[in-house]
Amino acid sequence: MNDETKPKRSKFEPVRSDFLVFGSPQIEQAEIDEVLATMCSGWLGTGPKVARFEGDFARYKQVDPSFVAALNSCTAALHLSLRAANFGPGDEVITTALTFCATVNAIIHAGATPVLADVNAHTMNIDPNAIEAHISPKTRAILPVHLAGRACDMAAIMEIAERHNLLVIEDCAHAIETEYRDRKAGTIGDFGCFSFYVTKNVVTGEGGMVIARNTADIKRIKSLALHGLSKDAWKRFSDSGYKHYRVEECGFKYNMMDLQAAIGIHQLARVDENWERRRVVWNHYQEAFRQLPVSRPPEPAPDTRHAHHLYTLLIDEEAAGISRDAFLDAMTQQNIGVGVHYLSIPEHPYYRQTFGWRAEDYPNAMRIGQQTVSLPLSAKLTDTDVEDVVRAVRRLCN
Ligand SMILES: *Cc1c(COP(=O)(O)O)cnc(C)c1O
Repeated sequence: MNDETKPKRSKFEPVRSDFLVFGSPQIEQAEIDEVLATMCSGWLGTGPKVARFEGDFARYKQVDPSFVAALNSCTAALHLSLRAANFGPGDEVITTALTFCATVNAIIHAGATPVLADVNAHTMNIDPNAIEAHISPKTRAILPVHLAGRACDMAAIMEIAERHNLLVIEDCAHAIETEYRDRKAGTIGDFGCFSFYVTKNVVTGEGGMVIARNTADIKRIKSLALHGLSKDAWKRFSDSGYKHYRVEECGFKYNMMDLQAAIGIHQLARVDENWERRRVVWNHYQEAFRQLPVSRPPEPAPDTRHAHHLYTLLIDEEAAGISRDAFLDAMTQQNIGVGVHYLSIPEHPYYRQTFGWRAEDYPNAMRIGQQTVSLPLSAKLTDTDVEDVVRAVRRLCN
């Protein structure tokens, strides 16, 4: 064996024998039974289970069921919200420099131009002052992300939007349970977009949901999600007789399947129970890491409900005595899965080359992106799992 092929000797002994997968979803028998029943029903595509999931979601969010549409991802929800608002070439949409790439890509898919605003160093959410500084005559919308499940400063954002006549599209991929002054995330702006990807708080495998303020936008979004076909195309195959469809515009293929909704219905039924478990784990981490030379996430702001989607530490090499990337490696060697949410958007080559963005121009997002580590935070974690995570972190930072 030469040096390259030799397995790397681990410097850190594992704290457990099996690998703790980051973001592993909690799947129970109810989901499994519903998926089997859906398979046996013979109706796998968009149908009655999707309609039920939409109804349940609308009830959870306290909105009219005709104001929601289930889709196959949050990326699709963001894209179709921007399309329903008729944004396209020449229009600018201001979003955060610290988010998943899908937020920015959806703006590009819609043909509009993304404009980045830096985040607040403390909350890690888009900074209203930075939004204000980037408004131009071409600005049409603000796309805030409730990062980690912490509500953005929606009062300031809505005030800016009203003053400049802009739409607000909330990226709620982390924020199903989030509330801001008695308002539910995704119902404050003009559109709210949700993700049911495998690591999110409610899981359908792949999946998403959009909330709009009116039925007309949802009808348009449902049509755009199915090739631009005229109304209720899924009913074409029901027993009420064949119905011709008409293509009204060039749409996409973004519909959710009943197989996915079958999982989501039971996940959503446990959403608050799971939130409570994650809240307990989140608070436990907060206490356990109090004495360590790392930055812990800020406590939830008063008058808000934090979704506790992510628990993130900031590892400043000088203070902690270990770099962020070495910390990631060492956690993995100890059999604890970790995540990074996120490298700042301008650090990705595509955006740098296409828009000329420089990470130094978004210093808070850049620093957080270089220091942040997400620890496991799933309702599935046992008390032993949580203690394993705590021991693994303490070993590295003491
Ligand atoms: C996961 C995520 C998305 C995309 O969700 P998908 O359902 O995978 O398309 C968008 N924005 C943020 C902030 C996310 O974390």
